[in-house]
Amino acid sequence: MKEVDIVVIGAGPVGLFTVFEAGLLGLNCVLIDNLDKPGGQCAELYPEKPIYDIPGVPFQTAQQHVNALLEQIKPFDYELLLNQRVNEIKVINSENDINTWEVTTSDNNVFNTKNVFVAAGAGSFEARRPPNIDNPDQFLGSGVSYAVRSKDLYKNKDLIIFGGGDSALDWSVELAGIAKSISLVHRRDEFRGAPHTEKLMRDLVADNKLKLLTPYVIDSIIGDDSVSGVNLKNFDTNEIKTFNADELLFLFGLNKKLGPILEWNIDLDGKKIDVDTSTYSTNLDGVFAVGDINNYVGKLDLILCGFHETTIAVQEAYRRINPGKRVPFAYTTSNTKLQAKLGVNS
Ligand SMILES: Cc1cc2nc3c(=O)[nH]c(=O)nc-3n(C[C@H](O)[C@H](O)[C@H](O)COP(=O)(O)OP(=O)(O)OC[C@H]3O[C@@H](n4cnc5c(N)ncnc54)[C@H](O)[C@@H]3O)c2cc1C
Repeated sequence: MKEVDIVVIGAGPVGLFTVFEAGLLGLNCVLIDNLDKPGGQCAELYPEKPIYDIPGVPFQTAQQHVNALLEQIKPFDYELLLNQRVNEIKVINSENDINTWEVTTSDNNVFNTKNVFVAAGAGSFEARRPPNIDNPDQFLGSGVSYAVRSKDLYKNKDLIIFGGGDSALDWSVELAGIAKSISLVHRRDEFRGAPHTEKLMRDLVADNKLKLLTPYVIDSIIGDDSVSGVNLKNFDTNEIKTFNADELLFLFGLNKKLGPILEWNIDLDGKKIDVDTSTYSTNLDGVFAVGDINNYVGKLDLILCGFHETTIAVQEAYRRINPGKRVPFAYTTSNTKLQAKLGVNS
């Protein structure tokens, strides 16, 4: 269990910028995201798309924007936890009428904090499960995965990758030199990924370094405690074939789900969280909602609106940690601590 000034749920652009604003006031943060990388929608949905409406930045791709935010928060005190979802928040005490929250992730990391920032966008990105398979998650950690957490997992293993998009192609190429054997399964012999990566994949097939299984879909997983193989169904003929495998990697894309947020007794308007725009607080003392997840009159789902919201919310977070103290205000040009961290001489 760790104590932290602000727990930020979601490492999208607004979550990342929260670290900057908190850092200016000397507050530390932990950022938690279900994805395997920071950047939220920018990194996951449109990394190559240009963004033209970040003030003072005429042009940036979405991934360049995320990289710049990561660079900007480097001087500050924060921890980034990926591949895990915040499942539960609960009040553990209310000393002087200020709630302290306990925040628990799907990997059982637990944090105590006076300030929970829900920067969850449209909800957590969750991997799509293979269709028609009953409870594939029973093999999580014993042969089934939905993202690559460590390439070492596939060393000397018989690996089957499923999918027809960029992730399936990228990881087929990347893991071909690592796994003992590797097969790529897709329901047709056409892919939606980058043509260059598709060519690399097909070169590996020609060199017998990768087996391409089309037109196949998964029929069932074979195994008791861990995966030992799969039955694949030919999409055209319905014929079933059995293949041995130690690891199955399903890369069928992502869904967005509010998931656990629905269970936290936060006032919602549809799929958005209602906030008081003087502080971006929710109905729960010490819980804020910033970025695309919140709702108020005039709300726009834009990055710059989220930046404004979290800047205001962080002021209130400071007041909750330092009751009665004036929130220090200074332009960054006169913030000598920041300049020292950046190595800038003022
Ligand atoms: C195609 C497209 C183009 C766009 N173009 C622009 C543009 O040009 N300019 C602009 O300003 N905006 C644009 N937007 C909107 C912009 O992307 C959003 O406003 C911005 O991403 C919101 O940031 P956020 O940090 O609030 O949320 P998000 O970017 O959605 O990030 C939220 C993160 O929270 C995580 N999360 C949610 N719940 C949990 C949980 N329980 N546990 C752990 N993690 C969780 C999610 O996995 C996600 O990574 C565009 C959006 C799209 C889809």
